[in-house]
Amino acid sequence: MHQGKTALVTGSTSGIGLGIARKFAEQGANIVFNGFGDAGEIEALQTQVRSEFGVQTAYHGADMSKPAEIEAMMRFAAEKFGGVDILVNNAGIQHVANVEDFPVEKWDAIIAINLSSAFHTTRLALPAMKAKNWGRILNIASVHGLVGSAQKSAYVAAKHGIVGLTKVTALENAQGGVTCNAICPGWVLTPLVQKQVDARAAQQSLSNDEAKKALLSEKQPSGDFVTPEQLGELALFLCSDAASQVRGVAWNMDGGWVAQ
Ligand code: NAD
Repeated sequence: MHQGKTALVTGSTSGIGLGIARKFAEQGANIVFNGFGDAGEIEALQTQVRSEFGVQTAYHGADMSKPAEIEAMMRFAAEKFGGVDILVNNAGIQHVANVEDFPVEKWDAIIAINLSSAFHTTRLALPAMKAKNWGRILNIASVHGLVGSAQKSAYVAAKHGIVGLTKVTALENAQGGVTCNAICPGWVLTPLVQKQVDARAAQQSLSNDEAKKALLSEKQPSGDFVTPEQLGELALFLCSDAASQVRGVAWNMDGGWVAQ
């Protein structure tokens, strides 16, 4: 479906971003990886994707909190593959604390990484997408782009913000081949969530399994985690021709979380 196209997925060295990058590679797209991690492991991950799917890959380690590094990453993608056809703004971090205790530097980092980075990549990717009259921008928001949860002020603010950015980007490009949509996952068992499972297990003297169940039962009626593979399939659909009139939506895949 995406032979000859290039997908850049921020934060694709782990979790949801990696799951989405693999789905696009499976469909023939060249992949620009981004994210932190051990250099050897990132090299091995690229080798695996190249050999499994026969696509080209590249990696840029830009820190999504730094606009100059984001600009360098977008130049790198243009030089390497002639531009970005599919942009997935996925990199994100979490911190949990009441508003009055929330560390200011954590607030700034979450707004920069989970929200402002998507503004920068989007503004830099759009001119070439518009020139080709084809492009797909996917913002990995969260159910927290639609509803709130206590102790997640920065995350919820950033995710509501990225849903807003999604709508405006979609409207400014409503006529033509460039679409922008958001995906809003519920709980997905990635390192970002495992930290919250660990914290709950420690606070409430629970086993790992009990802490997972407690987390899910509070918010996610299905009682199961969403998987990166399922999110990858939704991302593929939103990048297909069938979805060319899906514009500016915030599409939740959340085991029923937001239906309550
Ligand atoms: P993860 O921790 O497994 O992966 C996060 C990725 O972002 C990693 O590749 C990491 O290296 C990268 N990253 C972190 N800070 C970065 C920075 N400053 N610059 C560049 N890369 C950086 O987390 P995940 O759960 O896969 O989360 C991915 C996205 O999905 C995030 O935006 C998160 O908010 C969102 N999300 C996750 C869940 C969930 O339950 N896991 C639910 C809803 C939304």
